[in-house]
Amino acid sequence: MSFASEIKSELLRTEVKNTCCERAELCGLILFCGAILPGGKLRISTENAGAARRGFSLIKALFGIRGELLTNTGHKGKGGTAYAISIETPGETLQILSGLSLMEAKTVSFRVRENIVEKPCCMRAFLRGAFLGGGSVANPEKEYHLEFTTPRLALAQDTVRLFSAFGLTARIVQRKASHVVYFKSSEEIGDVLNIIGASYAYMELMNVRILKEKRNQVNRRVNCESANLDKTVDAAQVQKQAIYRLQKKGKFSSMAPQLRETAEMRLAFPEAPLSEIASLLGVSKSCINHRMRKLVELSEKA
Ligand SMILES: [Zn+2]
Repeated sequence: MSFASEIKSELLRTEVKNTCCERAELCGLILFCGAILPGGKLRISTENAGAARRGFSLIKALFGIRGELLTNTGHKGKGGTAYAISIETPGETLQILSGLSLMEAKTVSFRVRENIVEKPCCMRAFLRGAFLGGGSVANPEKEYHLEFTTPRLALAQDTVRLFSAFGLTARIVQRKASHVVYFKSSEEIGDVLNIIGASYAYMELMNVRILKEKRNQVNRRVNCESANLDKTVDAAQVQKQAIYRLQKKGKFSSMAPQLRETAEMRLAFPEAPLSEIASLLGVSKSCINHRMRKLVELSEKA
């Protein structure tokens, strides 16, 4: 099961306790995956069977209306199944839309009304419905990305405003005919999961995040160690070349004995780090460092 369907299953196991929240959740669901068809039919379409069932029972509980559950296999050529709840009569459609404050001066308005999301419990319920209707999330192992998709820009903006009430900054991007409200960081995605009530998914996300961070730390350390090793080898190479040059130019025998013994040690242990050469000669590392610099300097003048 994908991470997105895991979240949806968890949300669908959540029991909605208050009528205010039932209304808000249904409103979120309808705004994100509902449409008014010609003839005044209301159609709520989703690829998630559980979300369709949830919509069906919320409509029944709140309005006493029995929608028709439709399934349509092989939709969009993807071989998946599409589910829909259809409200067939304009009267019932109107009753539902009015009850969710989606009617404004006799026209349908797919916006989030204040009275639907008055309380924090209802704001959470609305966002839960919105996620069931138009939400998806990437596998956190691969990438951090959670989004809500809608063809309606004003609805996308309303959703951003709702998240800002929880201190979260969502962004909107246009993708073809859709407006996508999205989050890109593991912290924000974790907050969203908490807000909509997917606490198991939240814990799973945090586990993935910890594992990924551990893995990155190890990789960084390995890279850093090998970079240091490369640096040691490069420096040793420069020192060796300098010593050869001094020998070739006949400067070797006239050098101070400490420099000579250092040079000989370098030639004997061409890839040893300075600390090892220092301990072989019984002096400090900074002393050897100083002598090596001196050797390189002398060779440049030679
Ligand atoms: Zn509520």
